Parts: sequence; structure tokens; C-alpha cells
Amino acid sequence: MKSRLQEIRSKAEFEIPSVKTEDEISAIKIKYLGRKGILTLLLKDLSVLPPDERKEIGKLANDLKNWIEDNLKQRQKDIKEKGIDSLKKGFFDITLPGRQTIIGSIHPLTKVLNEVNDIFIGMGFTVAEGPEIELDYYNFEALNIPKDHPARDMQDTFYITDGVILRTHTSPVQVRTMEKTSPPLKIIAPGKVYRCDADVTHSPMFHQIEGFMVDKDITFGDLKGVLELFVHRFFGKDIDLRFRPSFFPFTEPSAEVDIRCVICKGFGCRVCKGTGWLEILGSGIIDPAVFSYVKYNPEEWTGFAFGMGIERIAMLKYGVDDIRLFFENDLRFLKQF
Ligand SMILES: [Zn+2]
Repeated sequence: MKSRLQEIRSKAEFEIPSVKTEDEISAIKIKYLGRKGILTLLLKDLSVLPPDERKEIGKLANDLKNWIEDNLKQRQKDIKEKGIDSLKKGFFDITLPGRQTIIGSIHPLTKVLNEVNDIFIGMGFTVAEGPEIELDYYNFEALNIPKDHPARDMQDTFYITDGVILRTHTSPVQVRTMEKTSPPLKIIAPGKVYRCDADVTHSPMFHQIEGFMVDKDITFGDLKGVLELFVHRFFGKDIDLRFRPSFFPFTEPSAEVDIRCVICKGFGCRVCKGTGWLEILGSGIIDPAVFSYVKYNPEEWTGFAFGMGIERIAMLKYGVDDIRLFFENDLRFLKQF
């Protein structure tokens, strides 16, 4: 029995100085002095000893118990002090800020696209989509641009095969929607379009939003009203706009819409090339020839259509002078929105 007590003591002498945390101290305490601890179990065997021996061993065991408790207490104190010491020595700088979580922001083009969508949805338009890989028929022919028509030169097209292209504008969605739906309709069609062109104001892939409305007795006045409301909501109430006669094969009459330069307020600057006006979109009354492709009766129905480049209006709204910034994904640029 004595030798077993001695054995327990040497084991504790070895283990206690090596503990490093308060959790380890609790574990050691349980190991030796817990209900099923090494020393506790040994004390239970005392009853089998003769009375005089029992007294002697009992005292030794009790001493050992006290010795373990004292040493654990001392060790606990040491650990605490050591922790405070290392703090005092500047081992941990508790004044350092925590690690920041970087939160992304919405891409400026998505933001502008959402804003434009919301304005038109607010006027009762619904959103339609179409394929980016498009048939020549929908991109050109059904929009009154037959093969060999000089208007095809206006757009540098990416051809996939003969008759299959990457759409050069969102206008084919107009034809596809009208083919499937009877009037009246009020549709916007946002999406990616492709043209073989690249410089500071042109990107081979960019975004357009197409809008059109077909109903009875639609006039140019309706088109003006809708676009004026859009410009005032998007650019601000104090922005003037003007309609300038233009030509598109799928509208007649056609007009381009300019807004008073948002940079110089109309006094003339580099961005507006000294004119005080900025072109933002093309529009017009849908040509009856387009209606004939989708079997609408032009005697019964009239409509208007418009299309604008999302990058273009985003550049004007935020004063960005290079379209490529939108696609380079430089965080220093994107963080500003
Ligand atoms: Zn200007």
C-alpha cells in the first residue's frame, strides 16, 4: 500500500508541472481526486487493512491528497500570472483592430439595369428575354433589314454560321414576343448584345434595353411621354431632352433622343463635343412592315419602340470616361458604387 502511494506521488510530481491550461488542471484533479480518481479508489481499499496499519496509511494518503491539491492550486496561480505577464509584455496587442470582412457591392451595370427596369416596370411594362445566339431572320430580316440592305453596314456583326449570329441588338426580342403574343403589349427586353467594335466607348459585348408598346391609337406623343418620364426619373427632374429626326429600318418616323449634357449642363465640354447635348437612345413608331412579319394588322394596331445602351447611360450617370472599366473588375473602381 505504501509503495502504491509513493508511485502515485511520483506520477503527480511529474505531471503537475507540465500542465499549461486551466482545463488541464481540472483534468488532473479529476484523474487523481475525482470520484473514480486513482487516490480515491485506493482509499476505498483501506477497510481491508488491519486497524493500526489503516491509521498509518490513512494519514499518508490524506497527506498526499493535500499535497496534490496544494500543488494544483499553485500551478493554477502560476498559469494565470504568466498569462497576465505576457499581456503586459505586449505579447498580445489587445488594441489591434479585428479582421474586417469584405462585403461586395452590386456591379454598376447591374445597378443601372435594375434601376432602368424598375422605372419601366413602374409604368406597367413587363420584362421579356430572348436568345443571344440569334437567327439572321430575327436580328435583321423581320426587322425590315433584308439581305444586302445597306443598313446592315451600320452594325459589325459576329457571324457563327451563315444565318446564325450573335445578336447585334435586343430588337429581335420584339419580333419573337410579337410572334407569340397578341396586342396590346408593353414590354422591355434587357440583355447582352455583340458587335465587332472596341475602343474607349465601344465594347464587343455590351448591354441594351429594348422597350416597345403596341396598342390602338399609339402616337409619337405616347413615346415622348414615356421617354420623358424615364429621363426625369433616371437622370433627374431638371434634365432637358430633345428628339432629333433619325433613321432606323424598323421604325418610321424615327428619332434619336438627346439629353442636356450632365457634365457641363449644356455649356459645351469635351464629353458632349461642345454641343451641350448627349445622345442616349434611338426610338420611333414601329414600321408597319415589321407588323406584317408578325401578322399584326397595321390598320388596327400601332406601336412605338426604343433601345438604349446600358453602358452608355451608366457612363453618363456616373461620369465614367472609359467603357472598359466596367469589364476589368478592378476592385478600386467597383468599390465606388
Ligand atoms: Zn458637356
